[in-house]
Amino acid sequence: MIEPVLTIVVPCYNEEEVLPDTIEQLEGQLKELIDDELVSKQSKILFVDDGSKDRTWELIYKEGLRNDYVRGLKLSRNVGHQNALLAGLFTAKEHSDCVISIDADLQDDIRVIREFIVRFHQGYEIVYGVRKGRETDTLFKRSTAQGFYKLMKKMGVDLVYNHADFRLLSKRAVQELERFNEVNLFLRGIVPLLGFRSDVVYYDRLERQAGETKYPLKKMLGFALDGITSFSVSPIRFVLIIGFVSFFMSLLFGGYFLFLKFFGTTQTGWTSLITSIWLIGGLQLIAIGLIGEYVGKIYKETKHRPKFIVEIDSYSLPVPRHHLL
Ligand code: UDP
Ligand code: MG
Repeated sequence: MIEPVLTIVVPCYNEEEVLPDTIEQLEGQLKELIDDELVSKQSKILFVDDGSKDRTWELIYKEGLRNDYVRGLKLSRNVGHQNALLAGLFTAKEHSDCVISIDADLQDDIRVIREFIVRFHQGYEIVYGVRKGRETDTLFKRSTAQGFYKLMKKMGVDLVYNHADFRLLSKRAVQELERFNEVNLFLRGIVPLLGFRSDVVYYDRLERQAGETKYPLKKMLGFALDGITSFSVSPIRFVLIIGFVSFFMSLLFGGYFLFLKFFGTTQTGWTSLITSIWLIGGLQLIAIGLIGEYVGKIYKETKHRPKFIVEIDSYSLPVPRHHLL
């Protein structure tokens, strides 16, 4: 039997603290799989440096020089987790039969990788890693994440519950993924749309080994709102916020005036008038803001910008030395 070539794709943003450990652990895991003849000797680990400001790329590059299992991809600037991941997947598929994506902080149990490969041998083209529990996450992260899944479900987006970006994709699945040309590519929503035979593997999520989350509250909100960073939609989003403020003000006014009506004195006519103005104003602004969100998305899609730009692909070394660090 010919073993499949596996590439493990690891997006990294300012991960110098965890990287040495991550390399060691992933390499150990990969070697075991090779020894057990589950994957080919040609299998690699591809680290994608997403425009880090620390020594992340230096570490990746130096490791690549002395370790044949390690490959590196350096993006020209920070493009965010999702796009960095795509850069890695699209590059890796050229050299492999299947790819597994995993975060650099090793919060996901790497022993599950073996399970992924076993499923791949059984003919599954997509294998999702799903967290059993979220005990290691803060209560805040847990509840916001849960709210997010519920909201997405309500809006008709089919997500695999408690599945982050820890999954196996066959070469074919990645090739099909590449045909999704949209700029706002939300992988967790798109991958289920690919179809193919898929399966789920459950695991316990661990705590981040070192370093801080690269998804602080601000980034999480942006992630959920899909593209808050683009200035082109933020003015209209501001309108939306004003709308919500106005709407809630009307509720406050309404409540307060009701209270006054029963327990104090009110001005006839004025109170109902002012409450309605805030209410209707708020609702109108919310409506405009929502339309604006869609228009903003259309605007972005029509531009067909590239989702990432590769600076160095160490699969295709050699490159001029001055480019490397
Ligand atoms: N990441 C990235 N680019 C970014 C932010 C994060 O490539 O702009 C990477 C990061 O290095 C990590 C993964 O995405 O490997 C997930 O980030 P993190 O662990 O900080 O998120 P959390 O687990 O807290 O949701
Ligand atoms: Mg993490």
